[in-house]
Amino acid sequence: MKWKQQIHGMKAYQPGKPIAEVQREFGLKEVIKLASNENPFGCSPKVTAYLKDDATNHAIYPDGYAQNLRTAVADHLGVKETQLLFGNGSDDIITMITRALLYPGVNTIMADPSFSQYWHNAEIEGAEIRKIPCIEGAHDLDAMAAAIDDKTSVVWVCSPNNPTGVVIPDADLRAFLNKVPSDVLVILDEAYLEYVTHPGHKETLPLINEYPNVLLMRTFSKAYGLASFRVGYAIGQPEIIAKLDPVRAPFNNTILSQSVAAIALSDQDYIKACREANEKGKKQYVEFCEKHNLNYYPSDTNFIFFNTRADSDVVFNELMKRGFIIRSGNALGAPGFIRITIGTEAQNAALLSHLEEVLKEQGVFA
Ligand SMILES: *Cc1c(COP(=O)(O)O)cnc(C)c1O
Repeated sequence: MKWKQQIHGMKAYQPGKPIAEVQREFGLKEVIKLASNENPFGCSPKVTAYLKDDATNHAIYPDGYAQNLRTAVADHLGVKETQLLFGNGSDDIITMITRALLYPGVNTIMADPSFSQYWHNAEIEGAEIRKIPCIEGAHDLDAMAAAIDDKTSVVWVCSPNNPTGVVIPDADLRAFLNKVPSDVLVILDEAYLEYVTHPGHKETLPLINEYPNVLLMRTFSKAYGLASFRVGYAIGQPEIIAKLDPVRAPFNNTILSQSVAAIALSDQDYIKACREANEKGKKQYVEFCEKHNLNYYPSDTNFIFFNTRADSDVVFNELMKRGFIIRSGNALGAPGFIRITIGTEAQNAALLSHLEEVLKEQGVFA
């Protein structure tokens, strides 16, 4: 077959073991998954109530334009409907961006470590990838700006960054955007926006008018608790949205997904409650790290990334045996580190007591 050259030797995304498999493998009754930054409290009860009485006709195609959801999001944000692009998760938006803007001969810039889908998709399109190492978990925006040349097509900025959790303050972001040429698309991936509490962070929506080359990317998969429904979206200038839209698959959001996303959006009290609970959960981990002198990055997300000073794959496996799935930093290019999704108070307490035991066994502390 005549495969694209880039496909050779490529590996599919490794999502981490499903709960059922870990239960079987280790003979565990209960397994808690704190690996993929889903909302541990689930979605708004309004969504659950809607789903119970769902009477959608699933035989017909969904609205490819997602009109109802589009109106709901446009009203919520105060933007025009033509400023929105919906994807089957923001993963789908990333694919549309790379399909439309990346090809052999151009380059794309991103932080390292950051979200793997940026480089994975760039690789498929054959673009040159420029990974700029983070400094203490933060984007090195000066180095990223310096890496831009006349062949740069897309720059990925993940704020707060996955896997480090670090958010970019407004002043730093603007200083960076001032340096980016207007024909370079800057993606601001805000998958964890709802969890941000950093005082230096300001509303990012005005950026799309001040810097028309900026595209914001958001998702219903994290704080909204709807990861299985696959809804993400981009917000930008109508000209950019119109260029990306033809690349989109015609019916890329299901009827049900469009309905539940709009309902979830209407329940901002729920989001606020989740953010507050997350802040408390974050404290449990921060206290643990400080007690044991483990280096952690300041998180503005529902996960925390810290250095265990042990082999992260060993820590990962030991926690799995005890019924907890987390992410090892080895897979994310940060050996020693682990990424844990902040769960409910009880889940966090249980995980931390097991982690304490594991790190003692590993000789990290007495
Ligand atoms: C989870 C995540 C996404 C993908 O979210 P989906 O909308 O579920 O595809 C995008 N970017 C970052 C940084 C994420 O952590």
